[in-house]
Amino acid sequence: MLVLIANLGSTSFKYRLFRMEGEAGEVLASGGVERVADAASAIGGALDDLAAGKAIPGLDAIDAVGFKTVLGKGLTGCVEADERVIEALEGFSDVAPAHNPPYAAGIRRFAGLLPGAKRVALFETAFYQWVKPSASNYALPRSWRDAGVRRHGFHGASHKYVAERSAELLGRDDVARVARRLYSDGPRPVAGAPLRVISCHLGGSSSVTGILNGVAVGTSMGFSPQSGLPQNNRVGDLDSAAVPYAMRALGIGLDEAQRQLAGESGLLGLSEVSNDIRDIAAAAAAGHDGARLAIDHLVHSIRHWIGAFLVDLGGVDALVFTAGIGENNVALREAVCAGLEGFGIRIDPQKNAQCRAVEADIAAADSPARVFVIPANEELVLAREVRRMLSN
Ligand code: ADP
Repeated sequence: MLVLIANLGSTSFKYRLFRMEGEAGEVLASGGVERVADAASAIGGALDDLAAGKAIPGLDAIDAVGFKTVLGKGLTGCVEADERVIEALEGFSDVAPAHNPPYAAGIRRFAGLLPGAKRVALFETAFYQWVKPSASNYALPRSWRDAGVRRHGFHGASHKYVAERSAELLGRDDVARVARRLYSDGPRPVAGAPLRVISCHLGGSSSVTGILNGVAVGTSMGFSPQSGLPQNNRVGDLDSAAVPYAMRALGIGLDEAQRQLAGESGLLGLSEVSNDIRDIAAAAAAGHDGARLAIDHLVHSIRHWIGAFLVDLGGVDALVFTAGIGENNVALREAVCAGLEGFGIRIDPQKNAQCRAVEADIAAADSPARVFVIPANEELVLAREVRRMLSN
């Protein structure tokens, strides 16, 4: 079965083409375009390039296209990407303005370009379907909650891959199986001891998720992808009273406040240097106070959420780092793990220093908990779900 995974941003379209044989996925081709004015209208050209390559006989050979949709109003899970999905995306366009409009446009475009291929959407919120109401609700009046204001959670495919892969690395095939089949079977009891994982997806946007027996118990991300940890240029958690206060104090309107919170805040806002942690780290090393503050704030926030899940899970068997920063940033991993020996987390500084963008256990040999670096593999999670949906 040939499954094309479509990754749509406001100015980019990237794809990865998988041949799926059971759970195993072989990447046959990947490509795309970046820095285009309109991602959806660039899809046709990118597919022409794919067809011109030798990976597949023709575009007709593609059985399905998978979309890693972010947030749908009143809709989650892994579903056929039809008009209902487009409506759900458009219903929350203002909540995820960088993500939802390109996906709605992209799904429509693929319907025209590859009419014979099945279209499947896997929402990034799907991993959090089983989070307890005590953790998924905000303390709001009924009318707000009825309007859909709640903690959704994001990076679902990435944290789900961590749930699967960390269980495999720990020799817990029972939990790995539950995690892999979660979206079709729901949570299942496991035979062995409870498996407690804290997953840190640290990249352009970041979140920390607590996982028990392959199922998320909660996450740092809330209603929108602008919550939780400081993001590259989005604010992260902020007291709701701060917005109306700052609008009055600074004399700005709601649109301008939203623009600043979604584009000039986060690591960029605090550092006043860059939205990229590499630039910020270089500035911090050269003595820039704002850059130092941004890194320290990110580390503080990550540790805050690790602490929350240490208590929620009653301890941890594996702490996992994934995504651009988590896979590559040695100093940040060290800072996050500093002083956590009392919680069973001790890294080996040398193993940590040697690990960049490869799968590794960077815990000290005598550390009770494992500390894994697991390269992100969201596309494989999605390709497996697409295959499962088509096979059913
Ligand atoms: P996205 O969330 O946009 O998919 P990534 O997961 O690639 O992005 O994370 C992007 C961030 O990861 C960048 O802001 C950068 O700070 C960091 N990063 C990516 N690659 C490296 C690297 N080789 N070394 C250090 N940091 C990196």
